[in-house]
Amino acid sequence: MAFAITQNCCNDASCLSVCPVNCIHPTPDEPDFGKTELLYIDPRSCIDCGACADACPVDAITRVSRLTGDQAIYADINADYYRDRPSVAEWGAPKFPPASINSMPRFDVAIVGTGPAACYAAQALLRVPSSRITFYDRLAVPGGLARFGVAPDHVGTRRIGEHFRSVFVHPRVTMKLGVDIGTDITHDDLGRRFDAVVYGTGADNDRPLDIPGIDLPGSLSARTLVGWYTGHPDVSADAIDLSDVRRVTIIGNGNVALDAARILTADPADLVGTDISPHALAALRGSAVTEVVVAARRGPEFAAFTRSEAQALVNRRGVDVAVSGPAEALSAIDELPISAPGSALQGVASVDDAVPGTARRVVFSFGRAPVRLNGSPRVDSVEFSDGTTAESDLVLLAIGYRGTPSPGMPFNEVLGAIRNVDGRVVAEDGEPMARRYVVGWAKRGATGGIGDNKVDAEETVDALLQDIAANPPEPKKRLSRLRTR
Ligand code: NAP
Repeated sequence: MAFAITQNCCNDASCLSVCPVNCIHPTPDEPDFGKTELLYIDPRSCIDCGACADACPVDAITRVSRLTGDQAIYADINADYYRDRPSVAEWGAPKFPPASINSMPRFDVAIVGTGPAACYAAQALLRVPSSRITFYDRLAVPGGLARFGVAPDHVGTRRIGEHFRSVFVHPRVTMKLGVDIGTDITHDDLGRRFDAVVYGTGADNDRPLDIPGIDLPGSLSARTLVGWYTGHPDVSADAIDLSDVRRVTIIGNGNVALDAARILTADPADLVGTDISPHALAALRGSAVTEVVVAARRGPEFAAFTRSEAQALVNRRGVDVAVSGPAEALSAIDELPISAPGSALQGVASVDDAVPGTARRVVFSFGRAPVRLNGSPRVDSVEFSDGTTAESDLVLLAIGYRGTPSPGMPFNEVLGAIRNVDGRVVAEDGEPMARRYVVGWAKRGATGGIGDNKVDAEETVDALLQDIAANPPEPKKRLSRLRTR
């Protein structure tokens, strides 16, 4: 009986390196890697050793015989990936570090940011015995999105934070918290002091939505909600009041939208004992929310959420789920293959047919592009391109994130990220900027979950090590002090 990978999969491929029979795919060398929602175990070749389950940092791997209830579908989802694929038992060519890591001179790297991408970069750098790392974070607590992004009810995924904590206390790591690089210390000063600087600064802003009414009170970024329920220091405890909010419309249907919909309709009792902020838990206890509409501008075949997140919402007890939208969009749901995220909504009743339940409801709405928010002085409805209107006491914008340009750092306006080629920061003329590197959302734009940052960070660290090997730093006894402005 094989093992299977389930909803929590973070895609960081820790399981692959311990599998003795190469039965977990796609591997980082395969074209699908980074494009699939999960990694998948081939039930035809799994030998049931369980090494992958031990290595998984987020407890996502379970013996198939123990998959019960809502989780049972993951046996099929894993097997389905291999339906038209041959069993791959042979290994790819071995990979060696890009430089002879044992003979490298001491080098000092500043890593800006302490989120998942920054931590994966540190793990890769710490494999080189002569590396020293100094983390900088503008917040007084480390963790980035592992701490202030992952929803509190995703307890397994939040465990990745414990995995990263070992990096922060590593003897070759120094932590400098509460320091804003670009403001307290210039990029140039930091670059002069260290042999390399790795930016893992994420995406700190929202994609803009330029429609009338978007700035009305009661229209917020989903980022605010996420910061509020995770206790982000920048979001005040009273940023969100749910006592008069009956219906919420969320614009966009990515996983941020689904996190928001799930938390807003959660039974507060289920959140007790999680990392949810005390003010959010108190507000949810007094919440008047009865319905959350997740409004997508396109059809279900283009759903931005992952299948596993939608499936978890559909399977949740005590909260009804319905779909709405043009007839052709709703019928398209039934045509989707199991691998398509929207297939999680197969069998879900349309709003018209849905028998009113006693519970709160999440409605997946398709084919509805927002054109205007109405209301005075607060938002009270959203108008869509198909002429429909959703009365809403709160509107959350969940259409994706982007970075903010920082003076002195080249910026790619299209990606909303630091301009780079394979992790080397490049100037406007395309030339690499000496000793500057970038990882994570700051490198590729705001796409991908936590584990996607591992391979991404390793690519950047490979480039960094090649550059250090080609141009070794002068020997030094210790770093001189860097004063903040
Ligand atoms: P996202 O996945 O990029 O989704 C953005 C959504 O906004 C899409 O539905 C998109 O629709 C819509 N949108 C964009 N521009 C729009 C516009 N002008 N008008 C209306 N709708 C618009 O972004 P996200 O939800 O912020 O997630 C970012 C990344 O973090 C994703 O890779 C996500 O999977 C990951 N994440 C993962 C988890 C998890 O695993 N639990 C949790 C949170 C985030 P179109 O498709 O039509 O453009």
